[in-house]
Amino acid sequence: MSESKTESELRAEICEIGRRLYNRGLCSGIDGNISVRLNQGFLCTPAGMCKGFLTPEDLCIVDKDGVLLTGSRARTSEILLHLEIFRVRQDVDAVIHSHPPCATAFAISGRDLPQGILAEAEVLLGRVPTSRYAMPGTSEFAQTVTDLLEGSSAILLANHGAVTFGRDLHEAWAVSESLENYARILLLAAPLQDNRPLTAEDQARLAAFRKQYMGC
Ligand SMILES: [Zn+2]
Repeated sequence: MSESKTESELRAEICEIGRRLYNRGLCSGIDGNISVRLNQGFLCTPAGMCKGFLTPEDLCIVDKDGVLLTGSRARTSEILLHLEIFRVRQDVDAVIHSHPPCATAFAISGRDLPQGILAEAEVLLGRVPTSRYAMPGTSEFAQTVTDLLEGSSAILLANHGAVTFGRDLHEAWAVSESLENYARILLLAAPLQDNRPLTAEDQARLAAFRKQYMGC
């Protein structure tokens, strides 16, 4: 859990996750943002900076309304999305918003990510719904995920990207990486003629394991 770590450890973790997002191609340019819940406020990435080159001093601390408390840079423009997730999901201590290419292809289609296909995805991702479109950075955009948060670890943002969340940064990162990997596998499998989905019984066993393992 994030609160068992010091603020300086969490700053270093955010910078490390930023490098991974950039190096894995899940965020390009100045895309994406990362945040963690602190005992007082929320630590987040700044606006307008590449996530591959962040230093601990670049990060911002904001309150529950997104008002900057500490930091010399402007906070991410997507903080309202992060804060909405922290508000609704008290079990969540870390949020990652990225623009992963394969997962975003599904977000453009407007469809939820298919389930019942890959065992690991059933456990780590579970249901991955797609939100309705709204203008990024607005409170209306933040509210597009509200009704989709219960029991989920990842949401596709229509015509935009993805957001993942977890009990700590490493869990949110694992979901981000697995989400893109799963979306890529779905696209690779799509042209094949003889794909066989998991049985209903296997899906139920995996869903039960997800509840135990991921706590949601
Ligand atoms: Zn975005």
